[in-house]
Amino acid sequence: GEVATETEVLVIGGGPGGYVAAIRAAQLGKDVTLVEKDRLGGVCLNVGCIPSKALIDAAKAYHRLAREAERGIVVEGARLDFGRLQGWKQSVVQRLTSGVEQLLKGNGVTVVKGRATFTGPNQVRVENPGGGNEVYRFKHCIVATGSRPVELPGFGFDGVRILDSSDALALDHLPLRLVVIGGGYIGLELGTAFAKLGSAVTVLELADQLLPGTDPELVQVVARRLRQLGVKVHTGVRVLGWEEEPGGEGVRVVFRPEPRGEGAAGAGARGSAGSSGSEEQAVAADAVLVSVGRRPNTDSLGLELAGVQLDERGRVRVDAQLRTSQRNIFAIGDIVPGPMLAHKASREGIVAAEVIAGLPAAADYVAVPAPVFTDPEIATVGLSEAEARQQGYDPVVGRFPYAANGRALTLGERDGFVKVVADRETGVVLGAGIVGPEASDLIAELALAVEMGATLQDLALTIHAHPTLSEAVMEAAEAGLGHAIHVL
Ligand code: FAD
Repeated sequence: GEVATETEVLVIGGGPGGYVAAIRAAQLGKDVTLVEKDRLGGVCLNVGCIPSKALIDAAKAYHRLAREAERGIVVEGARLDFGRLQGWKQSVVQRLTSGVEQLLKGNGVTVVKGRATFTGPNQVRVENPGGGNEVYRFKHCIVATGSRPVELPGFGFDGVRILDSSDALALDHLPLRLVVIGGGYIGLELGTAFAKLGSAVTVLELADQLLPGTDPELVQVVARRLRQLGVKVHTGVRVLGWEEEPGGEGVRVVFRPEPRGEGAAGAGARGSAGSSGSEEQAVAADAVLVSVGRRPNTDSLGLELAGVQLDERGRVRVDAQLRTSQRNIFAIGDIVPGPMLAHKASREGIVAAEVIAGLPAAADYVAVPAPVFTDPEIATVGLSEAEARQQGYDPVVGRFPYAANGRALTLGERDGFVKVVADRETGVVLGAGIVGPEASDLIAELALAVEMGATLQDLALTIHAHPTLSEAVMEAAEAGLGHAIHVL
């Protein structure tokens, strides 16, 4: 048959899972080939973490201008040049993705452009963009093909009015009215950014709370801020479909309260807006962002020909060393169970590369920080209070409010708190939740604490610089020990 190119390690996908795996394997002396069908950096750098954070931060800066008068800074005539903002955002993405390309090259990784499909347990076919085919034979393979947005029935993405997150990030104009279907982190992050830039935003969420699965006490602070921003939030509602807006260019998204529990349908179904019971409602929009989850890219990869098994949700089954049911093939990132987060993908990439090189590595998910870049930010790590209880601990919770932190006040950001969960008996830190400014950065200290098995005493005895937000972490630990200085 065809002539095959031999490689020791073949990596499929150049996102934060795949490119990190490729670099680590090359560092360990392996001959590595990385196949990417689209753009290096994957979802995260091109249409995920990076462009969304660029947009969120620009929106924050713009929105703040209107509030600076309180501090004596009077800004007149501020306006938004959306096209320029988008151009700047793209330049950030460009800088980072070309950095990835240089790192791969500098580490001696061969990058191949094309779509890989398995033709056996040691072989893939790569379709090049030009239409040609190449065959690669490998000793080991790391599959890191990531995920894509789930489509809601009836809401096929058209890139103009019905948008996925990539479409929303690439808009060339600001939608006057934006409906966000799905109040998970992607929907709330983008919804908040667009609201700050000037869109009228409505969020529709099926579950009873925004950010389902996140500690409701943390979510409450964000829900309050959304209301202050003028974002309309409907929780506990099911979206039924959409229709053309009569006499307008937009659409009307139709939804109704979701009956809760058995027998709730018919009578007594609760309406989120109070009055209308189980009746249908509609909200008009110029653009609809559908952010109802992501599915793993494990179809049309030929995994069955390679002997790689999936679970009932289409994710690749792996062991703690990220090995699939085929011993020489590994899988990492959004296609395997666990949170769909870039840093989790990268860690798994390092583990898979080290296992292939014969090092004693294994994945450990005890301290995966989960940031949400809303306003204010939420970040969690380890166990929540409820999870600690479920796992049989007697948890003690130390709390400290940002309102009692000097640095927070100088930033004009007093909403939120730090919550540290520890084992009452030993003081060992089990987890933490933060809602407030810079929560996504502050969580790092608590991730280290959980990872090292540090105690509340360790956090409390560590001298934290004054005045900084990080003092709230120290004081939450002191509160857990019963003696925070700055709170009664
Ligand atoms: P991906 O990044 O999806 O990369 C997979 C790559 O594989 C893609 O480049 C794809 O083109 C390629 N590929 C697929 N199939 C093939 C094939 N057959 N042959 C060759 N190449 C193939 N995570 C965070 O941690 N923090 C955040 O703030 C954050 N924000 C996000 C915001 C948005 C809007 C979105 C959508 C996601 C966000 N994420 C965030 C999630 C993060 O982007 C993903 O968890 C991460 O990108 C997963 O990495 P991965 O390497 O598994 O896959």
